Amino acid sequence: MTKQKSAILNYLISTRGQHITVQQIAEHFAAQGTPIGVATIYRHLDAFVQERRVKKYVLDGNASACFQYDPTDAPPERCFHFRCQACGKLLHFQNPVLTRFSEAVKATDDLEIDLEQTVFYGTCKNCSHQG
Ligand SMILES: [Zn+2]
Ligand SMILES: [Zn+2]
Repeated sequence: MTKQKSAILNYLISTRGQHITVQQIAEHFAAQGTPIGVATIYRHLDAFVQERRVKKYVLDGNASACFQYDPTDAPPERCFHFRCQACGKLLHFQNPVLTRFSEAVKATDDLEIDLEQTVFYGTCKNCSHQG
């Protein structure tokens, strides 16, 4: 593994649970004084996804895809998106109840919720503990 490749992987490990885009990865390494080109980052991320070490989520056509470190071999426990209305942060969370919830909506109302493109709004942990 090249130095850059392992640096990107380590960054993804340290930011697990957050919504991390290629742009953010580029900004992180630029701020560290060790810039990595966006094309290089994409290439490494594609490799990680192929190696099943990282999962890629595409929210919608407007937002950039995000990447989360997830080396599990088990069928992916899907990540859902949460936007904090106080600080504006986009976070990831997992909850098996949501999958059952979408199945229940399908059964009762015949509506198919695309959870992968759904963003939940509310207040994050940090913000709800402030005052
Ligand atoms: Zn995300
Ligand atoms: Zn917040």
